[in-house]
Amino acid sequence: MSILDQARIRLLYFGLLLAIVGLSALYVSVYLQNLHVMSIVLGGVLLSFIALFKYLSFKPHWRTISHMLLIIGTLVNLATVFVILQDVNIITVQIIILVIVFSFYMQGQNWGMFYSLLNLLPVLIFMVMKYDHKYFIDFKPETADDSTTIIAVFANFTLIIFIHSHFYTAFLKNIQQLKDTGEEQTALNIKFERAIEKAAKSSQVQSEFLSTMSHEIRTPLNAVIGMSNLLLMNNPRQDQSENLEILKFSANNLLAIVNDVLDFNKIESGKVVFEKIKFNLVDLMQNICGGQIIKAEEKGLLFKLDIDSSLRHKVIFGDPTRLTQVIFNLVSNAIKFTANGSILVRVTCLEDRHNNITVSFSVKDTGIGIKKENLQTIFEPFTQESITTTRQYGGTGLGLAIIKRLLQLQSLKMHVSSKVGQGSEFSFNMEFPVSTVIVSVKERSSALQQSQQTIAQAEGLGSNLRILIAEDNPVNVMLMKKLFSKWKIVPTIAENGERAVEIMQYGNFDVVLMDLQMPVMSGFDASMEIRKMTDPAKANVPIIALTASALFDIRDQVINAGMNDYVAKPFKPDELMEKIQNLVASVNN
Ligand code: ADP
Repeated sequence: MSILDQARIRLLYFGLLLAIVGLSALYVSVYLQNLHVMSIVLGGVLLSFIALFKYLSFKPHWRTISHMLLIIGTLVNLATVFVILQDVNIITVQIIILVIVFSFYMQGQNWGMFYSLLNLLPVLIFMVMKYDHKYFIDFKPETADDSTTIIAVFANFTLIIFIHSHFYTAFLKNIQQLKDTGEEQTALNIKFERAIEKAAKSSQVQSEFLSTMSHEIRTPLNAVIGMSNLLLMNNPRQDQSENLEILKFSANNLLAIVNDVLDFNKIESGKVVFEKIKFNLVDLMQNICGGQIIKAEEKGLLFKLDIDSSLRHKVIFGDPTRLTQVIFNLVSNAIKFTANGSILVRVTCLEDRHNNITVSFSVKDTGIGIKKENLQTIFEPFTQESITTTRQYGGTGLGLAIIKRLLQLQSLKMHVSSKVGQGSEFSFNMEFPVSTVIVSVKERSSALQQSQQTIAQAEGLGSNLRILIAEDNPVNVMLMKKLFSKWKIVPTIAENGERAVEIMQYGNFDVVLMDLQMPVMSGFDASMEIRKMTDPAKANVPIIALTASALFDIRDQVINAGMNDYVAKPFKPDELMEKIQNLVASVNN
């Protein structure tokens, strides 16, 4: 119950008591004077007040009780003016004031106005009529003595003062309570803000931690993968070769897990930006499924890729990397969770609206299937269908969580239907804007030729290519030296950024491979120093950043520091050579 309602009930309680005392005194006074009408009226009013007081202590119906009091007050007021006294005296005025104050406080604006006018207007009319002596009522007015008037005036004023002071206190309390609630609210808001800040900070710390950890894990992984590549290149014995393959496979697996965790972290912190570049869906699907078909066949599964032929010559805009990630994950899961039967990947053009197409992607398998109650939970991060899944198939339970979020970010939804023991189907629809360019078969084969040519050219790079490598990790240095020995290149090594800048001042190089995190001077600072050199050949030397860091905006940072490109460790030797070749060629042209 609000403070005001509580105050109203208290007011009625004590007000009625006061009124009963006052009325009793008045009753005695008029009775002793033998004023019959007044005695009857006052007696009636007294009895009704006592009855209302009883009712109030029984049920706190303040609204009804105050209405009844106001009706009684109005009747008494009008009867006194028009019949009993046939006069307007100070008591009448007091009663009117009492009714006005009481009705407003108890019943609010509308009823307050109603009772006020009901009491005031007839009295005003009476006064006007009396002024003209035009009224006529066949009743001899009574007049009370002074003591009665004094008692009435005193009682009425006491009531008026009581009502006012009571309500004034209640209003003050109400205001104080509002203030207190406001202050509590503000304190709570401050607490919330702090909690939000703390959460944001902890998520930032988590994201930084993951990024640092990934760097720490990727650096040795780089060495493991690189070394197994090198050992595999050196014609190992068959048993060695098998062991090396296992080593390489496990290291690559570990790298995939680290990448998944990082990717999830990146998506969760809302740092994914989708590209809008041109590509052909048929080429992309064939590339994705190329490697997967081999895996499926190794398991004795039938793999079918069914693409709508209308997509063959269409160039569309979208993010092929992210789309690859989604399809690749779905197909990998399908192969992983299917022991025999088939995998069907279907790409259908649902709608072709000239400059926009809607494509449906579906990956269907005949594998172990998923229980109905688990169809939602498998999309939660780090969640697999059961402990048995983890034991039997491994995995982190991040793949579907990443896919779901990637689709969600593009306002898309993944649909799953599955029957335990019969298989599963994952599908989603995606819209793509269509380019007006049409790819011909000839173009596609020439693009392929071009990339093959680049690799060939890279392999043809002679020992005359002068490479400066800024790298502090001795294992990585050894790895790079061995790697470049394949092309008969002997690179110059600088153990930190400062050394790299010094060596650049004295020697001439065709390309600089710059590790980013190094002691003394970082790769960023060293690159900026090189770009400031007066000799234009040195200032413009191609610089490729080598980084194991998975910082989200690494590309921007690298370009801002004046470097030309970057390669993430662990890198593929051919990819690195291709970049070197392209950069050197572009500088020489
Ligand atoms: P992971 O593959 O690393 O376990 P995912 O997030 O990709 O993680 O998958 C989560 C779980 O969903 C899997 O562990 C598996 O229980 C279930 N699942 C996913 N794809 C399939 C499928 N094609 N058939 C049966 N179960 C699947």
